[in-house]
This record gives sequence, C-alpha cells and structure tokens, in this order.
Amino acid sequence: MKEGKIVKVSGPLVVAEGMEESNMFDVVKVSHNNLIGEIIKMENDRASIQVYEETSGIGVGESIHPTGMPLSVELGPGMLTSIYDGIQRPLDRIYESIGKNIERGIEVNSLNREKKWAFKPKKNIGDKVRSGDIIGTVQETRIIECRIMVPYGIEGKIKDIKSGEFTITDIICIVVDENEKEHEITMMQKWPVRKPRPIKQKLSPNDMLITGQRIIDTFFPITKGGTCAIPGAFGSGKTVIQHQLAKWADADIIVYVGCGERGNEMTEVLTEFPGLIDPRTKESLMNRTVLIANTSDMPVAAREASIYTGITIAEFYRDMGYNVALMADSTSRWAEALREMSGRLEEMPGEEGYPAYLSSRIAEFYERAGRVACLSSDEETREGTLSVVGAVSPPGGDIAEPVSQGSLRIVKVFWGLDANLAYKRHFPSVNWLTSYSLYKEKLDKWAKENISEEFVILRNEAMKILQEEAKLQEIVQLVGIDAVSSKDRVTLEVARLIREDYLAQDAFDEVDCYTSSRKQAKMMKLIFEFKDALSNAVENGVKVDDYIKLDYVSKIGKAKLVEESKVDEEFKKIEDSIKPETEKLMKGLE
Ligand code: ADP
Ligand code: MG
Repeated sequence: MKEGKIVKVSGPLVVAEGMEESNMFDVVKVSHNNLIGEIIKMENDRASIQVYEETSGIGVGESIHPTGMPLSVELGPGMLTSIYDGIQRPLDRIYESIGKNIERGIEVNSLNREKKWAFKPKKNIGDKVRSGDIIGTVQETRIIECRIMVPYGIEGKIKDIKSGEFTITDIICIVVDENEKEHEITMMQKWPVRKPRPIKQKLSPNDMLITGQRIIDTFFPITKGGTCAIPGAFGSGKTVIQHQLAKWADADIIVYVGCGERGNEMTEVLTEFPGLIDPRTKESLMNRTVLIANTSDMPVAAREASIYTGITIAEFYRDMGYNVALMADSTSRWAEALREMSGRLEEMPGEEGYPAYLSSRIAEFYERAGRVACLSSDEETREGTLSVVGAVSPPGGDIAEPVSQGSLRIVKVFWGLDANLAYKRHFPSVNWLTSYSLYKEKLDKWAKENISEEFVILRNEAMKILQEEAKLQEIVQLVGIDAVSSKDRVTLEVARLIREDYLAQDAFDEVDCYTSSRKQAKMMKLIFEFKDALSNAVENGVKVDDYIKLDYVSKIGKAKLVEESKVDEEFKKIEDSIKPETEKLMKGLE
C-alpha cells in the first residue's frame, strides 16, 4: 500500500497525509522504527494515528506504512498463562528474551509459533460445518481445553482433517464451501478488537457468579454474564476486590486487565498472580487466566486498546462455551487515555474534558458481556457467558463524574465503595445502603434452588435490619444510646453482628478470604438464632449489655474463621450452647 508522510507529532498522536488508501481503525507502522499505531480519525487523505509506543524522536516528514488491517488479536491455544500488554504483545516472552526495557518497534508474535499442541479432531471428513463449530480440541493447560472453532465466515464440508501434534499455524483442517472453494483452517484465528465477536443469540443471565465474598453473594450478587461497576476512592479496596474475584469467582476463565493506579501495582499483579494456586484445582491460577498489563511507564494509547484486547480474548473463550469473567482495573485509566487522545485531536470536549462519546464507548464495552447462545450450526448448541466487572476511580471518590455515571447507566450491579468504611478498616468497604444488584430478584430464585429458601428469607430480613440500624443510629446520635428502647437495642446489636461478623471479610486471611454459599447460609442462620435468643432474653428482663458478653456470642464472631470442613461440627457446638448459656444468665437474675 501507498506510504503516508507525517505532518504533525503530538505525544502519542501522529497526523499523516497521503493516507487515502487506509481506513478508520487500520493499523499502521510509524517511521522506520516501525512503531505500531492505529488510525482513529480519517479526513480525506489525512489520518490521525494513535501510537502505542513512545513517539519521542519521531518527526515531521517521516513515513507511515499502512497495513490495511484493523487492530486485531491472535486467538488460539497459548493465551492462557500469558501476560500481554495492551496490544497483545507477550510481556513474559519479551522480558525473557530482551529484558524489561522493551525496544520500540519490536515485533513479536502474540502466540508462540513453535510450540506444538496435540490436536484431537472431533469431526470427520465429509461432515458439514459452519462458523463456530468445534472441529477438535487441544489441552491448552492442565485444566482447560481449547476448543478449535471454524472461523467466522467459513461454511462447508470437511475435505481433510488431521490428528496429532501441530503448531498454531499448521493447517489442521480443510473445508470446501458450496462454490468448491477450499478454506484452510489452523488453530489460530484473528479478530479485530473493536468489533464484538458474533453470537447466535443473547440470552438472559440466570445463574449466580459465586464469588465467595459474603457481602457480594448475599446482598449484591452478580450473574454469570452480568455487568458490574465498582466505583471507589483511592485506597477504598477496588483492586483487592478485583483480585478476590480473579482468585475465587467460579468462572472457568479469567481475563484480568490491569491499568495500574500506582506505579508498582501492576508489578505486584505480575509477580503475585503466577504464584497463586487455584483452591479448587490445586493448580496455578494462571492456568485459567490471561493477564493484560499496562504498567504506568507504558504509553497512554496502549491503555485505550487494552480493554478491547481483553474483551476480545474473553469473548473467544465464551464462544467455546466457557464461563468467562473479565476484570478491568481501573476503567478510569482507560477513559483518561480516551480523554487525552480526544484532546490532542482537538475534539469538542464534553463534561470534565471527556469526549462526548465517552458514555457510548462505556456502554459498547459493557454490552459485550452477557450469556449467549454461541455461534455454531443448529445441531451444536452451546452456551457461554462473559461477566464484566469494572473498577472506576472517581477523583476524590465522588461518583458524580462522567466515568462513574456512564458506567452506572449501563451496568446492572453497583458495588459502591465507601471511604468511611475503608477508613474504619471495614473491608470490603461495599456500602450496603447504596449498593444494588438488579439481578437480585432473579437470583432469589437461583438461591432458593441452589442454597436454601431460608437463606433468601434471612438475607432479606438482614438487609431490613441494616436499614433500620441506619435510622436508629441517627436517633442515638441525638438522644444517646440509653434513651433507645430495648427492642431497638436488640436491632442495633444484631446489625452490629451482621456488619462486623458477617459483612467484614479479610481478603488476606487464609480461611476468611472465601466463604462458600453453604457456609454463608449457616453463618446467617447463627446470627438469627442469636437474634431470637437475645429478643427472648430481653423480654424476660435481661440487659442487652449483659447478654452480649455470653461466651457463644463471641464465638459467632469467630464463625467466619471456621474452616469449611469443620463448619457443621463447630457451628453445632455454638448452637448447642445458646440455650444453656442463656438459661444460666436468666437464672442468675432471679
Ligand atoms: P484501591 O484499589 O481502591 O485504591 P486497594 O484495593 O489497593 O484500594 O486497597 C487498599 C488497601 O485496603 C489494601 O492494601 C488493604 O490493606 C486494604 N483492603 C482492601 N480490601 C481489603 C479486604 N477485603 N481485606 C483486607 N484488607 C483490605
Ligand atoms: Mg487499585
């Protein structure tokens, strides 16, 4: 294709003329350094290009080489366990070969071209296939098989299919279409990141994404295929929640897109994640994980691309029929990249300098989540889900700003992090009065079937108690605790137990970091047994202050630290001591 000439360089933005053969979103190579850029604006022959690498030293008059291809990712076996930058360059392999100082213009394939994978065909010669059909599998990691699908746009009869060890560029299958044209299929396919991968149909998400985080699973659950935003001030616990989800959520595949707030935050992810063990499979968590990392020293434009790179990889595993969860931390860093590019393009700024299309970009991103009927022929129905959880970092923690508002308009779950709770070291600092889940009703049905009917009743009751507590606290502030009726004192005590012993959860404690739904239900039940016993005792003249000193009450406080395997035994001991301890106290009063 015809080369263009640079007429302007402004940080990550380069403007070039003579680009009439290129299209919007095409990738270009900038100057003889071959820096990777993407066209983000076209006016006649003039292209504005966002460059994903440092542009210092690049000057007017240098050449631009169009590739005629949109910014795409390579999809195929080998993505799991990988660590990529925002445009899918494999950081782990680059670090290995050339160290941490990535040279500009370096060309590395996203997927390993040498590695051989054992391909097991699932189709036979003569079979009819359509886009999305699974023609075979390879064991990508010890726990995940990569299902090799017929790429989009190909349909026909299998003329040849192989079995054995192949690289991702070897031809493993030939499909002949109705015009007798032959299509060679490899284990790798490419997809332009800004375009959602096609599906057969969107379905309504019905199942809970189990996170093991009590406040989430109990009060503000998210579905498999759901969307969620976590706005919170600096230090309120966004990253810890995202890490908890990456570690514990019962998704098959995790795609973690990190745009670090702090300089060393991504380095922590890069060093910590590979060492983590999946509690369920006892294998390295990386076996089900793809990491996209933007360290703070990487150019701003790469951040803009990273969430698209991440979600396209996530969609690819969804298309295989997996439950995928994507975490983006923080989407504000992405929006700021968008704002910076928009400013350099001299576009008309919208609210707070963000471009007017900010909310539509946010919406487009979250709309790629969902539960879907995957693309395939009708005989081969399968479902996949893609859940998306985005952290938002509003400056000063005030969510009346464009990125938070744009996110909240589109997502169905809102975990509002509260700086006051974080200050008091109540973690996760999810505010139980302002947060919500629009999946709650739907998931009540799920919880009744999969946890218990009682749990659904108790959790609704618990929320009422917390709401009542908030009102009572205002009264207590005015008139003092002594003026509160004993019935209200009971409410306040039960609410305190719910907050401190149930909702507060230490992400760094070996046992507390994850609580199964079964244990959550049992913990909830214990709290309500306490409530009944306390109410009864108070009616019989016992003082709340005396009652809460009972031994078993402090044991409820430690119930969260009881290992899952000992829950039945240990909780029974607590329950069995309620009656005798209460009776002993009442006897003493006579
Ligand atoms: P943010 O990403 O919102 O800036 P972080 O996720 O880094 O905040 O959290 C800040 C600090 O708060 C953590 O380093 C940790 O000490 C504490 N923290 C947050 N959540 C928890 C949790 N669930 N359990 C224990 N400590 C937590
Ligand atoms: Mg953070």
